[in-house]
Amino acid sequence: MTGFSESSIATRLEAVHERIARAATAAGRAPAEVRLIGVSKRQSLEAVRAARAAGLEDFGENFLQEALAKMDGLGPATARWHFIGALQSNKTAAVAERFDWVHSVDRLKLAQRLSRQRPESLAPLNVCIQVHIGDEASKSGVSPAATAELAHGIAALPRLRLRGLMAVPPPEHDPARQRAWFRQLAELQAGLCAAGLALDTLSMGMSGDLEAAIAEGATLVRVGTAIFGPRPT
Ligand SMILES: *Cc1c(COP(=O)(O)O)cnc(C)c1O
Repeated sequence: MTGFSESSIATRLEAVHERIARAATAAGRAPAEVRLIGVSKRQSLEAVRAARAAGLEDFGENFLQEALAKMDGLGPATARWHFIGALQSNKTAAVAERFDWVHSVDRLKLAQRLSRQRPESLAPLNVCIQVHIGDEASKSGVSPAATAELAHGIAALPRLRLRGLMAVPPPEHDPARQRAWFRQLAELQAGLCAAGLALDTLSMGMSGDLEAAIAEGATLVRVGTAIFGPRPT
């Protein structure tokens, strides 16, 4: 069963907002410090419309063509769009023209293309660097050791605004182990701030580990299945 119902999306969205508020409060943070991105990859335009109607303002997409179709379907300037998928150089022009944020920049070459291709009529593109946390060789992202050099390179690009770091750590059931991965990203970011970069965003936490991410300082959580239900295959 992969269909959706508007009321179940609204109900699940409310439950996710409650999880965020509880986790923020437990960490001594204001719930408003944590913004929710609904990850709508492989979900229908109708599901996105239902989430938008229920108040969700930020949508994360992994696949360019699919994202463009949903943007066109929803209409201009009705939501904020975050590109969170693997970024290839032949996709940067459309990403620079149509998205508000990119969370998956892991090479200077891609950042330079995005900066060159960001239209002058738009605000600078918000960028997070995707960092490879954990040791799964298949995961994308720059290594923690190479992050500072990349960050300083991106911060110098005129049409990008470097906001912070993003990671997808290895899946863990144990909350303490989840927190340990997120802490690595938070400490890396703290080091960059100490080195003079003005970063305000930690993009970390998904359906299964958003509480641990918020406890370690997440400001953006990217949540798919907890809002939209299982992804259609
Ligand atoms: C799919 C995806 C998510 C959301 O995952 P859920 O477990 O469905 O919440 C978050 N971030 C990225 C980068 C993703 O690809």
